[in-house]
Amino acid sequence: MGTAQPSPRSAEAADEPLVLHVEDQRSSRRSLQWALRRECDIGTVEAADFFHAIEALKRYPAITCVVADWDLVVGPDGLDLLDKVAELRPEVGRVLLSGKMNGDLLELAKRAGHEAFDKIEPWPTIIASICRLARRCARCNQPRGECICGLPRE
Ligand SMILES: [Zn+2]
Repeated sequence: MGTAQPSPRSAEAADEPLVLHVEDQRSSRRSLQWALRRECDIGTVEAADFFHAIEALKRYPAITCVVADWDLVVGPDGLDLLDKVAELRPEVGRVLLSGKMNGDLLELAKRAGHEAFDKIEPWPTIIASICRLARRCARCNQPRGECICGLPRE
């Protein structure tokens, strides 16, 4: 399964934030896509595994936040993916989701600077976090467009 195209609106408005959602279940991808559009008018790009996610990250500079399911069926898990994202694009926000969240996983995620949520946490809390991260630089925490990191834009 490849990466899905962003909605036409997101593609046109290159400065609009875009969320990359990495999850192998199509129904889960649809739910998040719908919620982000409704709650904060943010578009999504989708990938089902680590490799397609990295490909999408390189293809869409507008991605400002990566939301990854920990338990991916193919390839490295979501934690490995977010570690890689932090290395490649440190200004991009990172959220780890898991239906099997435990203390160790939470600790690893926090230590690496990723936000992490158990999927049983209230959906509005998770969505609000993603919306906030998508609109801010993950390095300096400034709103997008006012980033003070001086990172060259890809
Ligand atoms: Zn910054």
